[in-house]
Amino acid sequence: MLICPVRQEQALINRLLNRRMTSKCACKDWGEAAATCAHHQNNNKEVHYVSLEDAYIRHVSERWLDFLLGEDREKRLTYFHILGINVLNLDYKLFGDDGSKRAGIIYNRFFRTAIKYPLKTFFDSHDKVIVDNVFHDSDEELRRDEYFPWHTPFRVNKDEDAKVRFQTDGIQFLDSKHSESNDPRSHLIQYIDLILGLTYNCLHHEGKSPDRTAITKKSHPLVSRLVKAPKNKNSSYRYYKRQSISFFPKTGIAGADFSAENAFYTERDLLIERHEQGTLSLDFGE
Ligand SMILES: [Zn+2]
Repeated sequence: MLICPVRQEQALINRLLNRRMTSKCACKDWGEAAATCAHHQNNNKEVHYVSLEDAYIRHVSERWLDFLLGEDREKRLTYFHILGINVLNLDYKLFGDDGSKRAGIIYNRFFRTAIKYPLKTFFDSHDKVIVDNVFHDSDEELRRDEYFPWHTPFRVNKDEDAKVRFQTDGIQFLDSKHSESNDPRSHLIQYIDLILGLTYNCLHHEGKSPDRTAITKKSHPLVSRLVKAPKNKNSSYRYYKRQSISFFPKTGIAGADFSAENAFYTERDLLIERHEQGTLSLDFGE
């Protein structure tokens, strides 16, 4: 879940666009010569974690990651929350009797959790948090789902104690391919897809290719801090109340404690570390 404070959205988009450019590109900024510059064309592909074997996509991804780990520590434009669900530890009985609908119900339920948690905790110094829009990558099944397109805003707005309010009554589907959507916010969907994929690979180490492993290792300093020291206010990465990763549920049976705070946890082994033991020094500092 990528969260964009309205006043910062354009600044983040501009940085992602300009970091699509390479030093070969003579253009001043990305918007200048999109149609005529050959370097622009090559670097205008959809960034997608599963496409990192494409050299152009990988290089844009590396520049986006450089931004996240570098300039963004000062600029603080990137807010995200990643919620990992251990489906093996879920009590399926809590999600209805109809097996064919269960996956949809689970996705919808945890989508709401994943959106509420960062809005409440990251912005806890604010009296109110107003959500103008929620975008989801285009997905025909979810778009046709009985609940998903409307249920999260409806349920959160019904909660009278909540300081979070949605000013939209539906989730909008936005194609992550900017060439299809003609909407610059598609780049934001690509950006969070990359962050999510790299986090996943730090945890599971798919080992698909040396290139994928290399860029994942580059993301490790941030991911390892987020799972091992999520509340460190003094980290130079300045992620506290801005970026977080959590998992659910902690124990085998979530049962009636389904929404209990202690069923969420952050600390987990990062398999990328085991794989790399002895061959590279990963950075575990502040
Ligand atoms: Zn150019």
